[in-house]
Amino acid sequence: MSLIVQKFGGSSVADAERVFNVAGIVTDTYKKGNDVVVVVSAQGDTTDDLIEKAKEINPDASKREMDMLLTSGEQISISLLAMAIEKLGYPVVSLLGWQAGFNTSSAYGSARIKRVIPDRIKKELDKRNIVIVAGFQGINRYGDMTTLGRGGSDTSAVAIASVMHADLCQIYTDVEGVYTADPRKVPGARKLSEISYDEMLELATLGAQVLNNRSVEMAKKYGVPKKYNIELEVLSSLTKAPGTIVKEAAKVEKMLISGVAKDTNVARISIIGVPDRPGLAFKIFSKLSAKDINVDIILQSIGRHGTKDISFTVTQDKMKEAIQVLEDYKSTIDAENIVCDDKVAKVSIVGAGMETHAGIAAKMFEAMFDAQINIQMIATSEIKISVLIDVSDADRAVNAIHNKFFPSEQD
Ligand code: ADP
Ligand code: ASP
Ligand code: MG
Repeated sequence: MSLIVQKFGGSSVADAERVFNVAGIVTDTYKKGNDVVVVVSAQGDTTDDLIEKAKEINPDASKREMDMLLTSGEQISISLLAMAIEKLGYPVVSLLGWQAGFNTSSAYGSARIKRVIPDRIKKELDKRNIVIVAGFQGINRYGDMTTLGRGGSDTSAVAIASVMHADLCQIYTDVEGVYTADPRKVPGARKLSEISYDEMLELATLGAQVLNNRSVEMAKKYGVPKKYNIELEVLSSLTKAPGTIVKEAAKVEKMLISGVAKDTNVARISIIGVPDRPGLAFKIFSKLSAKDINVDIILQSIGRHGTKDISFTVTQDKMKEAIQVLEDYKSTIDAENIVCDDKVAKVSIVGAGMETHAGIAAKMFEAMFDAQINIQMIATSEIKISVLIDVSDADRAVNAIHNKFFPSEQD
């Protein structure tokens, strides 16, 4: 007998038919004699709809009340799934995050899981119940409900799997696995049979929403297969096709890169005409970090006529705050001007093979040149290359780069 954690995303439980489809997958797993813990997200677009509802009432609602509202989405889906399983004749119980032992930090809207105390889950499994847990939520030290940030149900599932030393953690979604690019945007995208934690973590962080990046971080940290034998699998709830296994040492397929990702939640800020002298970068970025503003790509021009420009990117929600910090500081650092642009996107390629293969960057830039797309900024690390471009070029860029690295069979 194994312990299997199965997570179903919003589209997998969008309506009654889909809920019964999920109930079928869960009970099939249970029938084989396994212990089953199921994590579910809110149905379909429920979370987005709730956010819209809140905006109608109060666009500046407190984060606490937002979490009180958003956690209700998952409460609906766990109870409906439990009812469907009851109807199929199997023993089942649904639990909210706090009942399942999810203790989080107090940061409403982006809480971190501090500890999962799975006593109640264990008790229910001992009674041979199927346990359905609300994803994306927990409770903080004030006794308030919190949410883990968008896409957080993946993290809930991996947290349970690691704390309970599950044998398998399956993330069921609306595509058949992890692809070389978003299969809804890139028709030639290929499904990967395996991918390493490191590559998946980069892809998730750079915009491939199929897995939440914190969930991959957690799986990498705690899911060492040799230790607990936890495997993380991404697969479809709608077809029976084999999915993608995310693991420490993935089988290396004969590919230079494992994927292309796009992130449109980016804004570029440029500080124009600062004096070309030591200490400027230190001063600017320490001011920003004091306000908890994370900076991503940074580009500094060579000094000319005694001045230089510094550009960097932040997430769009931090843009206004970052500009305010710089405006307040502008005269102290003698900057001429501060400009920003939120009509930008970051397109990235990820691949462990990059370290050992020359010419990958050149190939990516050639694809951009062929498509006549201008690159504004470039950033690289051992296993990724990112370019910042105009947002209107983003989908074209992803396709051009993907076609360059993964030409279709006819080409
Ligand atoms: P769920 O509701 O199941 O959590 P998400 O919408 O969060 O599902 O994630 C699945 C979606 O991720 C897919 O429908 C797909 O459009 C998108 N996606 C983006 N990049 C990739 C990729 N590289 N591989 C697979 N899916 C991707
Ligand atoms: N329902 C939440 C969201 O839409 C959590 C999740 O789907 O993982 O972000
Ligand atoms: Mg998701």
